Amino acid sequence: MDCCICSPMATMYRLPRNSICAPCYEGAKAITGFLNKDEQEDDGGRGSAKSRGSMKPNSATMGMRDAWEKVKETRDREQTTNQRAAFLEQGFALAWKEGMHTDIVVKPGTGPPIAAHKAILAARSDVFRHMLSGDEQCIKAPAGDAISLPELSHDELFLLLSFLYTGGGLDDQDEVPERHLHALLVAADKYDVPFLRRACEARLAARVDTQNVLRTLEVAELSSSSVLRERAMDTVLEHAEQVVFSPEYDDFAVRNAGLCVEITRALLAKKMSTATTKATTCCIEDV
Ligand SMILES: [Zn+2]
Repeated sequence: MDCCICSPMATMYRLPRNSICAPCYEGAKAITGFLNKDEQEDDGGRGSAKSRGSMKPNSATMGMRDAWEKVKETRDREQTTNQRAAFLEQGFALAWKEGMHTDIVVKPGTGPPIAAHKAILAARSDVFRHMLSGDEQCIKAPAGDAISLPELSHDELFLLLSFLYTGGGLDDQDEVPERHLHALLVAADKYDVPFLRRACEARLAARVDTQNVLRTLEVAELSSSSVLRERAMDTVLEHAEQVVFSPEYDDFAVRNAGLCVEITRALLAKKMSTATTKATTCCIEDV
C-alpha cells in the first residue's frame, strides 16, 4: 500500500489523495492517545493553568503535529534531567572514590573496610541515620567512627555504597552476580532503601529460572519482597515437576516449611481449577 507516512515514495503531501496504512494509523492513534492521557494527568496533578509551551491550552485531543511538539519537549526535559543526574552522580562518586573528607569506616563481614561519609549514609537510610546518631532503638550503637555490616562481603558492601552514592552501579561492566543481588535486596530491606529494593527486585525478577527459583523465593521471603515472591511462585507453578523433584528441593523444604505448604496448596488449587475448566469444556462440547 502507498502509505503517505511510511512508504518509501512518501516524500510529499498529496492532497486530496493521501492514504495511510493500518500500522501507521494504529501507531498515530496510540501516540496521541498516550500523550493526551499524559497531558490530562499532568493537568490533574498540577492544575490546568500549567499547560506547557506550545500545547494548545484547552485542546480536547491533540493531533500528530502537537504530539511531535510534546515529544520534543519530553526529549528536552529528559536531557536536562540526565544532565542533572550526571552532575550529582559524578560529584558524589568522586568524593567517595577519592576518599575526600571521609569520616567513617564501614566494615564488611569479610575483606577490607571501605571509607565513606556519615552524611550520605544518614541521608539515604533512616536506619543508618539512627545508627549514626546513637538512637536507642538502633540495631547497633556506633563504635566511634566505624560501623559493621557483617552480613555483607567486601564486594557487596562496595556495591551497596556505590548505589547509595550514585543510585546506580548495578548495571556496570560485568553482570552483578546473583548472590550479590540477593545480599543487596536483603540489605535494602534491612536498612530501608526502597530505591535499591526496586532495582534489585527488577534485576532478579528478570533472571528467575528453574535453576535459581528456590533461592530467589527464599530471598524474596527473607526481604519481604512481594513482587519477587509472586514472580518466583509463578515460575515454581509453571515448572512444578522440574522444581519439586530437583535435589535442591529437599534442603529447601527443611529450611522453608511454610513456603512448601504454600507451594503444595497452590499446586493443588491449580490442578483443581484446570480440572474444573476441562469439565466445563466437556459439558459445553456435549451440549
Ligand atoms: Zn504507513
